[in-house]
Amino acid sequence: MRLSQSFVKTSKSAPADAETINAKLLQQAGFVDQLMAGVYSYLPLGLRTLRNIEQIVREEMDALGASEVLMPTLHPKANWVKTGGWDNIDVLFKINSRTGNDYAMGQSEEEVVTPLVMSRVLSYKQLPVKTYQIGWKYRDELRAKSGIMRGREFLMKDMYSFHTTQEDFDKFYREAKQAYLRVFSRLGLVAKVTEASGGAFTTKVSYEFMVLTDAGEDDILYCEACDYCVNTEITKTVAGAVCPCGNGGLVAGRACEVGNVFDLGQKYGKDFDLSYVDEADKKQYPIMGCYGIGISRVMGVIVEKYNDEKGIIWPKAVAPALVYLVSIPGRDNATPVLDAAAKLYSDLQTAGISVLWDDRELSPGAKFGDADLTGLPLRLVISDKTLADNQVEWKERTAGDATRVSLGEVIAKVIAFK
Ligand SMILES: [Zn+2]
Repeated sequence: MRLSQSFVKTSKSAPADAETINAKLLQQAGFVDQLMAGVYSYLPLGLRTLRNIEQIVREEMDALGASEVLMPTLHPKANWVKTGGWDNIDVLFKINSRTGNDYAMGQSEEEVVTPLVMSRVLSYKQLPVKTYQIGWKYRDELRAKSGIMRGREFLMKDMYSFHTTQEDFDKFYREAKQAYLRVFSRLGLVAKVTEASGGAFTTKVSYEFMVLTDAGEDDILYCEACDYCVNTEITKTVAGAVCPCGNGGLVAGRACEVGNVFDLGQKYGKDFDLSYVDEADKKQYPIMGCYGIGISRVMGVIVEKYNDEKGIIWPKAVAPALVYLVSIPGRDNATPVLDAAAKLYSDLQTAGISVLWDDRELSPGAKFGDADLTGLPLRLVISDKTLADNQVEWKERTAGDATRVSLGEVIAKVIAFK
C-alpha cells in the first residue's frame, strides 16, 4: 500500500470529543472515523487490523471443530417475542417498517441460531453441534464514549454449541476456555477469567474474560499467585482478602470484558419447542452455550495497552503491515532513492512481507511522526545518505535508536524479524 494513493490522512490532534486513548489514537492515525457516537467506519489500515484479529479468532474456533456461518442482522420480531427478549432486553434496537412489521437488530443471535440448527438436528446422534459467525451486532447504548471499546455497532464473534448433556457442555466449555486464552495470548493480551452472574435470562453461571486496562468498565479482584479472579459486582470479597488458594492477597484492578461464555441450559430449545429424540426415542431439548469475543472491542483494548506518547505500538500479530517504508529523495535528483525504495517495496512483498510505503511529498520529520503514530513494528528509511552506502536505516517501533542494514541483507533480516 502506497500512502500517496491513500485518501486517508493523519491529523495533528485528536477529535475534541475523544475521551479514551483508543478513540484518540485510532482517529488521529486514520484507522477509524466516527460517524456518530458508538458507530465507526473502519478505514484501510483499521480494516486490515480488524481482519488480522478476526483471522486469529477464526483459526482457534475452527480448531475447536466449530463451523463458520453468516447469519442475518435483521431479525423478525416474532423470534424475539418467543424468547422474551423483545420486551426485556433494553439495549435491543427495534425497527418499525412501513410494511407494519417490526424487526430487531441482532445483539446476540440465539433467536436465529436455535431454529437454524434445531430444525436440522432431529436425533441425539447429530449432537453436539458447534457453529459460529463473525458479524456486526447492535446495542442501543445510552452512553457510547469509550471509542471502539463500546460501540452501538460492533464486530463480534459469536459461537453457539448444542449438547445432549450438561457434562458434554462443561467439557466443551473447558476446551473453549483454552481456545479463548490462546486467542488473547496471540493478540498480545493477558486475559483473566471470572465467573459472573448469568445473562438476561439464565440463572446458570457465565464466564467473563477480562483484560486489565484503565479504560475498562469493570472492577475485578484477582490473585497474582493463581488464576483466581472475580468481578466486584458479584462478590462480597474485598481487596486485600486472602485468595482461596492461600498464597496471595487479592488485588483490585480495572478491566475490560473482551469475551464471555453463557451456559444457556435448555431455555432456547424450549422457547422454540425445537427438540431431538434421545436413545430411548424420547423428546429432549438441547443444552446450549453461547461464546462471544468482541473483535472491534479487542482492537480498542490493544491500543489502550500498547501505546506511548508518540502513538500506537501494534503487536506484530495484528499490525496492519509489518514495515513502514520511508523514502527521502535527494534535493537535486529524486530518482535514485525512489527507484531503490520501489525495488525494496516490491522485494518485500514478493517475500510475503506486508509493507506500507510512505512515498508522499512530505518532510522527513512529518513522515517519521506518522510512522510512530501509525505504530507499525518496523520502520525502514531509504535516503540519499543511506543509499550512498548501499544501506537502509532500520528502526523498530519499540527501540530508541536506529541502526543501518545493507540493502543486500535487509529482506532476510525482515523475514527473521517477522
Ligand atoms: Zn490465588
